[in-house]
Amino acid sequence: RGEQPEKYDYDRAQVPGPLTAEMEARQAERRQAQKAQRKQREKEKREAQQLLEQEEDEKRCFALLSDREKRALAAERRLASQLKDSSATLTNTRRCWLCGESLLGRIPFHYLDFSFCSTNCLRTHRQANAALS
Ligand SMILES: [Zn+2]
Repeated sequence: RGEQPEKYDYDRAQVPGPLTAEMEARQAERRQAQKAQRKQREKEKREAQQLLEQEEDEKRCFALLSDREKRALAAERRLASQLKDSSATLTNTRRCWLCGESLLGRIPFHYLDFSFCSTNCLRTHRQANAALS
């Protein structure tokens, strides 16, 4: 049909359109590209999820440290590797002293040399300390 388009009534004979193989190849190519794109998106999603889980781990880890350990961390990040039970390395030590929430990109609340993500955390920490002394 591609070579002799006028010779027969192809539509009536129900002969498929010309260049079918090329069209199919193009379609297959498009499908492949879509598949690659989908794969890439899934990979990015997985990586983002991993980062999120890592941040959660760090947050929990930091929150569990004693005030003395947090203070040491804030003073010198390299101490992180010497802390007991810290298999996870802390990449960010600017965290709320109570709940461990990251303070990067935030304006933290302070009292003494402690920093907090919220006035709620600050108040709780201050009350706990007041109860100790
Ligand atoms: Zn907090």
